[in-house]
Amino acid sequence: MITKEQLVAKVKTYDPQTDEEALVRAYDFAAEAHKLQRRESGEPYFSHLVGVALILTEMKLDNDSIVTALLHDTIEDTDTTLETINQQFGAKIGSLVDGVTKLTQIELQSSQTKQAENFRKLVLAMSNDIRVLLVKLADRLHNMRTLHHVKAEEKRKRVARETMDIYVPLAERIGMHHIKDELEDLSFAEVNFDARNSILARLRFLREEDKSRINTTIRELKQLFKRHSLDVDISGREKSPYSIWRKMQQKNIPFEQLSDIIAFRVCVKSIEECYKALGVIHATYLMVPGKFKDYISTPKPNNYQSLHTTVIGPDKQRVEIQIRTHEMHEVNEYGVAAHWKYKQGAGGSEGREYRWLRGLLEIINNASNPEEFLEHTRLEMYQDQVFCFTPKGDLIPLPHGSTPIDFAYAVHSDIGNHCVGVKINGRMAPLRTTLQNGDQVDITVSRAQSPSATWEKYAVTGKARACIRRYIRTQKRSQFAELGRAIIQKAFKKERLSFSEKQAEKHLKTWGCATINDLYALLGEGIKNSQEVIKTLYPEHTSTTKEQAEPAYKGEAKEDETAVALRGLIPGMAIHYAGCCHPLPGDKIVGIVITGSGVTIHTSDCENLEQFADEPDRWLEVAWSDTSSTDAQYVGRLHVVVYNRVGALANLTTLISQNQGNILNLKITNRTEAFYDILVDVEVRDNDHLNNIMASMRSSSLLSSVERSRG
Ligand code: MN
Repeated sequence: MITKEQLVAKVKTYDPQTDEEALVRAYDFAAEAHKLQRRESGEPYFSHLVGVALILTEMKLDNDSIVTALLHDTIEDTDTTLETINQQFGAKIGSLVDGVTKLTQIELQSSQTKQAENFRKLVLAMSNDIRVLLVKLADRLHNMRTLHHVKAEEKRKRVARETMDIYVPLAERIGMHHIKDELEDLSFAEVNFDARNSILARLRFLREEDKSRINTTIRELKQLFKRHSLDVDISGREKSPYSIWRKMQQKNIPFEQLSDIIAFRVCVKSIEECYKALGVIHATYLMVPGKFKDYISTPKPNNYQSLHTTVIGPDKQRVEIQIRTHEMHEVNEYGVAAHWKYKQGAGGSEGREYRWLRGLLEIINNASNPEEFLEHTRLEMYQDQVFCFTPKGDLIPLPHGSTPIDFAYAVHSDIGNHCVGVKINGRMAPLRTTLQNGDQVDITVSRAQSPSATWEKYAVTGKARACIRRYIRTQKRSQFAELGRAIIQKAFKKERLSFSEKQAEKHLKTWGCATINDLYALLGEGIKNSQEVIKTLYPEHTSTTKEQAEPAYKGEAKEDETAVALRGLIPGMAIHYAGCCHPLPGDKIVGIVITGSGVTIHTSDCENLEQFADEPDRWLEVAWSDTSSTDAQYVGRLHVVVYNRVGALANLTTLISQNQGNILNLKITNRTEAFYDILVDVEVRDNDHLNNIMASMRSSSLLSSVERSRG
């Protein structure tokens, strides 16, 4: 284990201005905090922290990263609190250590998850400062280097698999290939020791056998480029055991048939020279079709840049050649660290993420403005997403701003359609709550629940919105069909004709319908009327409707009428409550079919019903369902005449609120010396509730009269 002096000296080799005092303080603090802990190897736990810090010095990272590396396990594994870290090392270090701690906790929570891709995204989304991720990667690398000390084989295998699934792709995504390769090889050694060993043995054999071939190829390539006045560095690079293994698996071929175990790397000074070198290669050797890839004009998502081609080389064997600039080579191998090194020489053809990383380096280097720093170092890639856990530990990725409704639909549309409530991290929360990264979301479902139109306001995912809309559309259609069935029975009864579905089904084509339910739905929606159906079924019949123009609800015997209960209909969709008379549960009501939008419910004494007097088809007997839910609210409109006296208006509002009424709207319609005419919309449970309010208003000496307003 290296001393603090050695650590400081190491950082100073690439960052002479480093905050030596902070490094020493962090070193001593961590040594003290972990002094009683040991690793499974028997070494002091502190050796792990120094190990992680050293890995970061190899990446030439800044002072804050090294300090964070030393402190990264203090909150998770010792009595140290975040407050202490903040006090002693400042808020910047505090937030970095906190970030690494959170990743460690998330890692523990979801180690069972099989959705590695989502977990990787979660890690990226939670690393709002890339240094958090770099410390975490170094932490994992050190744990992998010391994995052989862990005695339980099962644990070793699990850690290795997790590394392969989560951290190898993460390292690759941020372009840290040397970390990626090492993590991959260490995991491979654990997961498939025998395969790796036989590949290594085979490689050793080939290396001996091919030594002359490699040297000949390099020599010949060098001469070729010299003839074309290109100054190049050429090296042969053996593929890693794991990448050979993967190729053998993917192509299902034995090791002997793998031709391109050695790739030749050609490094030149400029992009222009890259293409020049490529031209020379292709003009000299036969190119193997389908192998050429231009990652310079189109870099990989992690900014990897290079030209790849495979040709039939100098000794008539297939040879893979990679061409790149020196700078690209550094970036490909060392990611962020190389950006650090190359930040002076700005090239022109950088991709979006490359620019972002470069910007990051600029800021790390002159980190004088912490706010600007945090602003710029957010990992942009997954900032627009949140990742939440199901109770079983599955990860569900959602767009930023998603609610439990989105979550429920993302799990399964059936869960979405029946969700009634949600527990977030063990606590009840409203369905409209915005979800945060790492939230554990437990949806409560009930078969009795169905989507409400208001849910659409809270849903941001396309899936949830489409499901809600589709559900409401089918609901609406079946409601229209139900209404249509009632309408047709009523119409036939009035004409004293008999109606049978069998008979009607023969004429479906005439009406452009496929099923009898289609016909009912059209009738319910008011697109067709019952007279059309009667005319088709009974061409000889003359309608009696004209003579019976009287509204249906008045003169007819109620008991044998088809009543459509409001129960089961979705408020605000197929059913509308008329704004003129504000019907309340308990009121006598009547439904009027309005073409294209369903049924409007009026009180049966509403003046506006006059205009439908000639259209008995539109009238529908409806009744309140007996079990009208207790917390549903309806709006009643009152016409109040108030004496023009001090306190009269206040008295009016007090009386309403004392009786648990909620005033939604209040309008003075007329004002004289003695009186005000006022219209008040009050939210109530039912008409009994409204009657209570009216009774107490009538007892007030400041109010002259109170009536329900009817249209
Ligand atoms: Mn650690």
